[in-house]
Amino acid sequence: MTGILYVIATPIGNLKDITLRALDILREVDLIAAEDTRHSKRLLQEYNIEKNMISLHEHNEREQIAHLLQLLQSGRKIALISDAGTPLISDPGFPLIRAVREAGLKIMPVPGACAAIAALSVAGLPADHFIFEGFLPAKTMARCHRLQTLQYEHRTIIFYESVHRIVECLQDMLTTFGATRRIVLARELTKTYETFIDGNIEQVLHQVMHDSHQQKGEFVLVVEGYHVPADDALTPEAKRIIKLLLDDLPVKQAVQLAAKITECRKNFLYDYALSLQNQ
Ligand code: SAM
Repeated sequence: MTGILYVIATPIGNLKDITLRALDILREVDLIAAEDTRHSKRLLQEYNIEKNMISLHEHNEREQIAHLLQLLQSGRKIALISDAGTPLISDPGFPLIRAVREAGLKIMPVPGACAAIAALSVAGLPADHFIFEGFLPAKTMARCHRLQTLQYEHRTIIFYESVHRIVECLQDMLTTFGATRRIVLARELTKTYETFIDGNIEQVLHQVMHDSHQQKGEFVLVVEGYHVPADDALTPEAKRIIKLLLDDLPVKQAVQLAAKITECRKNFLYDYALSLQNQ
């Protein structure tokens, strides 16, 4: 008889955001593997759950895998939880899940809170197609480079950000995505000081910079995807010219030449050229 690994979502703030099934399973398992055992003890105490725990975090994850696989093979039931929300979503657990799958052992999700999905559900931005980017790189150059690769992403983009870089992150988004792109900043979801700031990037940055309270806590940024500027930004003649030039030239040169010929703005021509390439 083999055991089972349950991957259990826990609250992202409000301790009541845990499912009845999650509580039943946490009571029933032989062992809980937690990102930070001291942190998770508070949640377990709230629900009078006393269990053996081991820590499983970024730095010891690989060493713990062999031990956990052995326990599962000998029939033990184990729960994996992280400090907040759904394990593996910008949290530890991926190498363990991969190893459990490769070993052909049983694994089951116990779904619940996730900050990205909670923010998206109230952002008022398209939620039918979206991408999750998690944390941007901490260093400015790498962060800007990452943002540039997302500049023409059509789907809604979800980012996580910490208290340390929220202003810099919004400033870099302003530079890369432009001032008018819509953004919803969801702060301290489900907690006492839950706040949403909704507007274009320039407005949201302005509000965050001028109110230090808005720079504290945990953040999800939900950013509108790229939309090709209104069709009438370019004349039919300008569109015809850029299309012709793109047959023989790289985008940059085609745009430069088309701007000279048509006297249209380079960014409109550039956006149009990229939209043709994405078709
Ligand atoms: N596994 C978690 C989930 O399912 O959302 C995410 C863990 S990740 C280490 C922590 C980041 O998630 C925070 O820096 C923040 O960007 C986001 N986050 C977590 N809880 C949040 C909350 N209550 N409000 C806003 N953002 C939150």
